[in-house]
Amino acid sequence: MRVSIIATGSDGNCIHLQSGSTGILIDAGKWKRDLEKRLLANNINAATDIQAVFITHAHGDHIKGLTLAKKYLFPVYATHGEWQKISGLDDDQKHVLETTFGKYDSVRIGEMDIYPFKVHHDALEPVGYAIQDGNGNRACVVFDTGQIDDDMLQMMEGNIYIVEANHDVDMLQNGEYSDYLKDRIADPHRGHLSNDQAAEALKKLVNGRGERIFLTHLSSNNNTPELASHAVRMALFEKGFINKRDYFLEVV
Ligand SMILES: [Zn+2]
Ligand SMILES: [Zn+2]
Repeated sequence: MRVSIIATGSDGNCIHLQSGSTGILIDAGKWKRDLEKRLLANNINAATDIQAVFITHAHGDHIKGLTLAKKYLFPVYATHGEWQKISGLDDDQKHVLETTFGKYDSVRIGEMDIYPFKVHHDALEPVGYAIQDGNGNRACVVFDTGQIDDDMLQMMEGNIYIVEANHDVDMLQNGEYSDYLKDRIADPHRGHLSNDQAAEALKKLVNGRGERIFLTHLSSNNNTPELASHAVRMALFEKGFINKRDYFLEVV
């Protein structure tokens, strides 16, 4: 499975995943023109290499380039709750992620099966995704979430981890944000993942079988790539795993 991080960070997130002839986007959080440029720079042809777009939640940094989907008529998938906050798409493009007995149904796009799962963030019905292809790869994309619970861990297990490492706890607490904002970001039910939370989850998930890890959605005010990388490498070192030998870490 080819992973292209088209954009990530507080002002826009978009991931492209490709397996065989099937390509999907997770989120479209940069303006359309910018997204088109970035896709091209990654050798992705929007007209042929994207079969569907999956939305994690309807915050601007995840959906503001959805006019791209309108232009190319991609089907767009989001939860019932998140559709309440998304406008500007034709009805026949909109697909609701359905549930059965409280669990999301999977969606098949070409050679990929996409499994949505619940996350914890201040949106109406935010989700993360696990994406499985026919070659034994399973990727997960976990953006904005205040915590990673056991149900999420179960869904995430695979060989490619694209996970939020939003903030360093000390930088957030000693930084210039208001107390209100600090509390909101650190709130396990509505906030964002700290480096330590991401590291703790990856420590449970990674088995040293060459997994690929992408740390994403770093805050430009409350984190640095070095701190995020350090937290994860230290956590995995406790299991005896070393970067570039047992797993491959990228901070993007
Ligand atoms: Zn958000
Ligand atoms: Zn976000």
